[in-house]
Amino acid sequence: MIVQKWLEILSHYNLFTVIVFFLIENLLLMLLAIGIGKIIDREATKIKKSDIKWVISTLLCNMLVTLIGYKLYQYQIIKIDFSTSFFAIVLDTLLLILLMDFFMFCFHYLAHKLTWFHPIHQLHHTHIDTNVYSLFVLNPIETLGFGTIWLIIISIVEFNFISIILYLILNLSYGIIGHLNNDIFPNFWNTNVVTKWISTTQFHSNHHKNESHNFGFYFTIWDKIFKTII
Ligand SMILES: [Zn+2]
Ligand SMILES: [Zn+2]
Repeated sequence: MIVQKWLEILSHYNLFTVIVFFLIENLLLMLLAIGIGKIIDREATKIKKSDIKWVISTLLCNMLVTLIGYKLYQYQIIKIDFSTSFFAIVLDTLLLILLMDFFMFCFHYLAHKLTWFHPIHQLHHTHIDTNVYSLFVLNPIETLGFGTIWLIIISIVEFNFISIILYLILNLSYGIIGHLNNDIFPNFWNTNVVTKWISTTQFHSNHHKNESHNFGFYFTIWDKIFKTII
């Protein structure tokens, strides 16, 4: 397995090299997101000078979460299934998406309801009209909070490595999609019996405009259950 081999190769390098490697990896992912944002939303994708420090701190926090995840894997606290069973991949991917979506929904809901947490989350809500940079305008406490949920879940459950990769692609994609200025979803999406359960650009955009609704990320299901959907 190429991923397993990469992790093995990485273990031969010192901590500084590993940190630089994860920093470059997260920087490339951030640049990819910004590039996609610029392609779809050319006009709207502009960064405010006051946000630059938050984008950099989010990059550093993402690097730290990746590093902690790597160390937990080395200490075998995080275990990864490197099989290529189709059934395991499908099941693990669905389970990982559902678990993450539910706990992120709870975390986001608390970010609005807890008096000490609300001011921290308000930094993200300084963006009422969003663009892809909004995804990275987060207080470090919040970024590390989301990262902790991720690390706890993959420490408790052993997921397939392809499912982990698919989830990370989906997570970045939905981070971009949710903060675009232009809605990229077709009109039928919100009324179709299947697609109406999957959130859209409009869904998260509505949250930025009305903070008491739409706390979910990938699915609309939790907001429907807890009656917080617009
Ligand atoms: Zn947002
Ligand atoms: Zn919010």
